[in-house]
Amino acid sequence: MEIKLWGVRGSLSSPTSNDDYARKVYSILKLAMDAGLNDPDKIKGFMEKLPDELRFIYGGNTTCATVTSGSGTMYIIDCGSGIRPLGDELMNGPCGSGKGVINIFITHNHWDHIQGLPFFRPIYVPGNIINFYTPYNFQDEAFRKQMSSPFFPATFEATGSTKKYHFLDTKNRTQLKLEDDLVVDFYPLKHPGGSFAYRFKQGGKNFVFATDAEFTGETLEQIGTKTHFFEDADLLVLDSQYTLDDSFLKIDWGHTSNTMAVNCGIRWNVKNIVLTHHEPAYSDFKLEKNFEDALEHKKNSGNDSLNIYMAREGMTFKL
Ligand SMILES: [Zn+2]
Ligand SMILES: [Zn+2]
Repeated sequence: MEIKLWGVRGSLSSPTSNDDYARKVYSILKLAMDAGLNDPDKIKGFMEKLPDELRFIYGGNTTCATVTSGSGTMYIIDCGSGIRPLGDELMNGPCGSGKGVINIFITHNHWDHIQGLPFFRPIYVPGNIINFYTPYNFQDEAFRKQMSSPFFPATFEATGSTKKYHFLDTKNRTQLKLEDDLVVDFYPLKHPGGSFAYRFKQGGKNFVFATDAEFTGETLEQIGTKTHFFEDADLLVLDSQYTLDDSFLKIDWGHTSNTMAVNCGIRWNVKNIVLTHHEPAYSDFKLEKNFEDALEHKKNSGNDSLNIYMAREGMTFKL
């Protein structure tokens, strides 16, 4: 499996601010001066050695990720604004001529997880088939409402593609068996209005995507005795919207702190954890600090096996 992150911001799309941009440029120029950089041919090598917070931006698009199976079939998770650039890329393939088949899993219908769909170009092309895998029997209605007057100029009904809904059996939590022995399981999360985590299993590897979710010490204990859904994941992309201090101010808002996310990863014996659904008010510098705090928390917990990553647009993982 290959996993790619297209949108990692929570709640609201958040472009990098001019102040942040200026601060990054200043820091890069200062490092260049300190390094005595004066040869254009050495700029590329210099940039590749910059710390991540200067070399990259975390990105402002809301939730969207792709899972590509061993045989090359792509599954999209959520339609946040990150699905727009994905759609532009897909238009270069069969989707551009109405021969595309798209598979989309929906975690829930909060705006930041469906707001990119009206800008996903493949849905407008007749002939394309869009398969929605969803736990919600009101899925079509949610899409229609989002694209109705006065909120959007085109209606969902008028988009040219064919939509098919595959409703997940949430009562029995029946696993989906897809092509290439890919098995998909799902699990309800604590979040206002509900949200579902997905687990993709193939070739003995487990990928779990879990946002939006509020984990606390208490819920972690409760889950521990009820399910093995999260355990031993090779890769876990987990909600970690807040710092620990902010999470105390936002109890029951449905999101997890960075340090609690690390606790989850350790408790579930996860190999790699990716912290995502970044708070829109946090700058890249703040996110870098949160990342360092997460690493420090892991160290203080005495764990040396969990790998921690801060989610960034364009990040890919191979399992
Ligand atoms: Zn969200
Ligand atoms: Zn939500």
